[in-house]
Amino acid sequence: MGLLLRPLELLFPSLCVLCTSQLEGEQVVCGRCLEGLPETGLGCWVTDTSVHEGLDGVWSAFWYDEQVQRLIHLLKYEGYRRLGRRLGEAAYRLLVDEIPWSQFDMLAPIPLHRTKKRERGYNQSAVLARAVGGVSSVRVDAGLVVRHRWTQSQTGLSIEERCENVLGSFRSTRPGGGKNVLLIDDVLSTGATASACAQALKSNGYGEVAVLTIATPQKGG
Ligand SMILES: [Zn+2]
Repeated sequence: MGLLLRPLELLFPSLCVLCTSQLEGEQVVCGRCLEGLPETGLGCWVTDTSVHEGLDGVWSAFWYDEQVQRLIHLLKYEGYRRLGRRLGEAAYRLLVDEIPWSQFDMLAPIPLHRTKKRERGYNQSAVLARAVGGVSSVRVDAGLVVRHRWTQSQTGLSIEERCENVLGSFRSTRPGGGKNVLLIDDVLSTGATASACAQALKSNGYGEVAVLTIATPQKGG
């Protein structure tokens, strides 16, 4: 899908990537499409995630439907960094009264392994974190946690395999001193990755650790 859109974007740079309507002072995706994305309405759903050890809160703005999947694919693999800003701000607007923003000392993107970051040129979660930081006024610390071990893709793995795959792959870079962290990522499915990241932070003295993701797949849907 993304590859088909690429030439279109080059020819008509001011068209919405979802509905191809003319963009007026907006970027990449039109306001109507953005407002039409399926809200989860889940609130804090940490206890319903499959894996939540180390996590004190989980929020996900949208269901990972076809449209959201397309946007995230464009952000991650097609170089549409500006989409990160649109999605991050949309998630913030949706959850502005839901998340206790002032309780968090910092936002931290779930990191990519440096090899993957080099391949992609940027970490999409860091782009999202900067967008959320810009509107929430919570500062962003992109170097708070690093991914020091290469892990295979989580796709197609069982929950147990996912946990085993990511556990111990993150390392906190400095002592937490009880500070509270809101992790930012694009998609949360089982929670295994965010949980591994949270555990690394907590073992280094961080207080509450929660995660905000743009999307989550609808169970059974
Ligand atoms: Zn549109």
